[in-house]
Amino acid sequence: MRVAALTGVGEIEVQERDRPTPEPDEVLVEVGACSVCMTDYHMYHGTFPVDPPVVPGHESAGTVADVGADVDSVEVGDRVAVNPTVPCNVCSYCKQGDTNLCVSSTSIGGAAETVRDGAFAEYVRVPEMCVEDIGDLPFEHAALAEPLACCVHGVEVADLTPGDSVAIIGAGPIGLLLLQSFRNAGAGPIVVSELDDERRALAAELGADAVVDPNEVDPETAIPEAAGGKVDVGAEAIGLVPTIEQANAVTANGGTTLIFGVPSQDATLEVSPFDIFFNEVDYRGSFALNTDDFQRAIDMLQTGRIDADSVITEHIDLEDLPNAFKRMGDAEGLKKIVDPSPS
Ligand SMILES: [Zn+2]
Ligand SMILES: [Zn+2]
Repeated sequence: MRVAALTGVGEIEVQERDRPTPEPDEVLVEVGACSVCMTDYHMYHGTFPVDPPVVPGHESAGTVADVGADVDSVEVGDRVAVNPTVPCNVCSYCKQGDTNLCVSSTSIGGAAETVRDGAFAEYVRVPEMCVEDIGDLPFEHAALAEPLACCVHGVEVADLTPGDSVAIIGAGPIGLLLLQSFRNAGAGPIVVSELDDERRALAAELGADAVVDPNEVDPETAIPEAAGGKVDVGAEAIGLVPTIEQANAVTANGGTTLIFGVPSQDATLEVSPFDIFFNEVDYRGSFALNTDDFQRAIDMLQTGRIDADSVITEHIDLEDLPNAFKRMGDAEGLKKIVDPSPS
């Protein structure tokens, strides 16, 4: 089978490997689609260090091609999405359902303490507990279950009540999924701030009640103007300190500033403890997803609650990954889907 393996920083190579045999509690999935994520980008550039060689790709779906001896929940031919987070299931976080906070998690192709080979490959071997049935959902939509589940988690962390106002800073692929998740949860109004014209227009199409262009106006005044006041949830979906500060500046007293974009590990943020005390503004982080979020994301995709097609702009082969990473660095296009076995 063909895989795209990271062999060093900035090096990715399409290799021919033996098709893996699943362990007794594992499933082999023939990958139908695997979407490319900023995590893959960071692994490629060494900003998420990994031990090469490793096959990245953690947003995938496909067809069960083989099952281990002890597997009884799925069979060959089933269509599934792969939850790339493998929790230890024994730590205190896992036991209380917060599998995203697991102290010794493994990721299938993503970022975690332990990384096993992912789905930029014709086949991926995964534990039985990581596959979810998708019925007849197209693979490219099911591949978005993982990023969408992160957004579902963000909405939960923000503790949203229907009718709460929301600002989203940044409308990249993940910001646009977060927008749709907040909208499904009953948020309103939702105001999106985004530099790029096309992304901003798409945010309006996908349900933002107002969009603001930071090139033209100061979001710190334009967002409250559009929302009829400061917002209950100020969500930052980029991962930069100035935009986190912006999200906080538009968060109403008693509201929540949601740190949703991935900040750099050495970034620091200056906060006024008095303001947090006096205004009762929470800073909350939303990291990855738990098992329940993943199932909910699949339900939302299956019931048409999410416009997945609008955030998918490209289909590529395994060989095209370096070019895809370059385009992501330049913020060109939205979600890129790898079809590992082009017919
Ligand atoms: Zn991802
Ligand atoms: Zn655990």
